[in-house]
Amino acid sequence: MPGTEPQLKGHLRISMNVGYSEAQLKNFIEVLRDKVGAQIAENGAQVLGEVMGAPLPEAHSKAVKVTRKAPPVDASPDYFTGKATVASRFTSEASGSYGGGIVNFEAGARTAWHTHPVGQTLIVTSGRGLIQSEGETVQEILPGDVVWIPANERHWHGAAPDSAMSHVAISEPQNGSTVNWMEHVNDAQYGK
Ligand code: MN
Repeated sequence: MPGTEPQLKGHLRISMNVGYSEAQLKNFIEVLRDKVGAQIAENGAQVLGEVMGAPLPEAHSKAVKVTRKAPPVDASPDYFTGKATVASRFTSEASGSYGGGIVNFEAGARTAWHTHPVGQTLIVTSGRGLIQSEGETVQEILPGDVVWIPANERHWHGAAPDSAMSHVAISEPQNGSTVNWMEHVNDAQYGK
């Protein structure tokens, strides 16, 4: 309506802030054209054009990028025993030279045997866990512990039988792959 352009401008800016795309907002104007009338739609389109031509709102002009927490994804039963989830997956924005995520293991859950072509770093963030490299004894890992697994070292990691465990896992890809999965860790190997 005439005289409400400032309010419309504010609403359109808020819509952009919460993630509506330019195409979605243009579609909204087209709905106005169908439902309310051509003149109203033209007024709306003009206001939208002013908003789009304006400098981006402050929330979109930050130098740093915050990716909000998303629901964890179940880890594949092909590569894990028990219940495990993966959250906050990331890849280095500059070069893709490293990536990782947070892996959450319920009590008794563990990875299958596997290797990493360029090694892996784990940072334990909660609970109590276990890690074993083939031929070595199982080691306990606790919050704050940092674990380095060298390239091509066959190993597994997971929660203790009686405690959940979460760790951040970071690794570098080689030919696009960060891990080579092998057979599951059976109960005898796990020490149950
Ligand atoms: Mn590993």
